[in-house]
Amino acid sequence: MEQPIAVTRQSFDDWMVPVYAPADFILVRGEGSQVWDQQGKSYIDFAGGIAVNALGHAHPVVTAALVEQASKLWHLGNGYTNEPVLRLAKQLIDATFADKVFFCNSGAEANEAALKLARKRALDQGNSSKNQIVAFNNAFHGRTLFTVSAGGQPKYSKDFAPLPGGITHTPFNDLAAAAEVINDHTCAVIVEPIQGEGGVLPADPAFLQGLRELCDRHDAVLIFDEVQTGMGRTGELYAYTQYGVVPDVLTTAKALGCGFPIGAMLTTDELAKTLGVGTHGTTYGGNPLATAVAGAVFSIINTPEVLDGVKQRHQWFLDGLNKINQQYPIFSEIRGGGLLIGCQLTQDYAGKAKQITQLANEEGVIALIAGPDVVRFTPSLIIPEQDVKEGLARFARAVARICS
Ligand SMILES: *Cc1c(COP(=O)(O)O)cnc(C)c1O
Repeated sequence: MEQPIAVTRQSFDDWMVPVYAPADFILVRGEGSQVWDQQGKSYIDFAGGIAVNALGHAHPVVTAALVEQASKLWHLGNGYTNEPVLRLAKQLIDATFADKVFFCNSGAEANEAALKLARKRALDQGNSSKNQIVAFNNAFHGRTLFTVSAGGQPKYSKDFAPLPGGITHTPFNDLAAAAEVINDHTCAVIVEPIQGEGGVLPADPAFLQGLRELCDRHDAVLIFDEVQTGMGRTGELYAYTQYGVVPDVLTTAKALGCGFPIGAMLTTDELAKTLGVGTHGTTYGGNPLATAVAGAVFSIINTPEVLDGVKQRHQWFLDGLNKINQQYPIFSEIRGGGLLIGCQLTQDYAGKAKQITQLANEEGVIALIAGPDVVRFTPSLIIPEQDVKEGLARFARAVARICS
């Protein structure tokens, strides 16, 4: 076989559409919560592929599921159903409020399906003016034109106008402001239980409870975007159970496939009827390869060992980060749930989140940002204690450098 061509970080700048600015090294291998670059340098992975690799890298059970399915059947298209997709649907239904599932390939697509469902439901009821969507400032729902418009960060949408209309944004966690715009013309309210990309900002329980009541009063569909909070990230399978507020539609992706692209929209029997044959679809959605992997992932995550382990790991992170912050006070707040943790930088370090993660890379640890002023950690849900300790020690060295 021909030797693969040599590639370097420079190749990215030479050949790739420049929508990303990746780190200046290339990772080639991962195992558990460690990854290695082309030069063999090791890193502790506290990012998990942006809250995706919930079982770390190359988990043996998940890898075995992928390999087994890969030798059987990869893809059929939705004119033919398959066993793994039906089994995964049943797993999701049995573990949540949902009665029905629609599979797709990403978080954005799951939200796109949810918003389309809500619009069509109102229209089917004969209410053509009930098409308004309420969303929140700073929210992130994906990058398709509809979902980026529902997102509350105009910097991501403004260059693509004209944008889909009928979407209103109000401040997150401000129930009074939401109550002013939610009315009988509202078909959907979409919200993240914890705003992830927006800075790891948890919703107040009263806010989500209030949205539930407003949606009930005005017959609007309440959509929880659990693409980031889902699949064990907060220490529960989905965050809605912690809040005690049940949505009408829940979207999930990221950790669902642990790195294999898959997304899903979960809903009730009544709402599912809206999307009848031919009204929506996707070529790859629910293909046997993706759903076999997700089925294996689900079986591992939806256990008390893993979910309780997330709560324990949350404490390890909090203890370690608080200790770092005592020595080098750079965080004004450490917040989030489970293994979705955001560290808000103080005024003195505002805007330096990216620089901190770059120094962290140099010290051998991978962390994320959530906006310019927040360092975010979304590691594997089963990261070993030793890796947490070692990664935090490396992170502390990066913090020491930014403070010197
Ligand atoms: C990542 C994310 C999305 C988008 O998911 P993609 O798979 O990138 O399309 C949507 N909503 C939330 C809350 C996310 O964190």
